[in-house]
Amino acid sequence: MEHIDRNVVSRFDTRSSRPCEFCREFDPQFPARRALDQMVSGSRKAIASAHLTEDGYVRHRMLELRRLTSRAPLTAA
Ligand SMILES: [Zn+2]
Repeated sequence: MEHIDRNVVSRFDTRSSRPCEFCREFDPQFPARRALDQMVSGSRKAIASAHLTEDGYVRHRMLELRRLTSRAPLTAA
């Protein structure tokens, strides 16, 4: 008898989401976010537009911008 265990397969549902690696690494506030704001779509790379929520997207973009501006001289203002 050949039997595929559907319960095992469904655990790897491609629709599932996961925490954004980028934000987890660079955002000190990451654990304080709402769960949904931490998540990116499971099948995509950890980029801003993969975030499931507007807030998650904005925070991801702010982290990217902060990393860019941190290389610039602080006396620029
Ligand atoms: Zn992110």
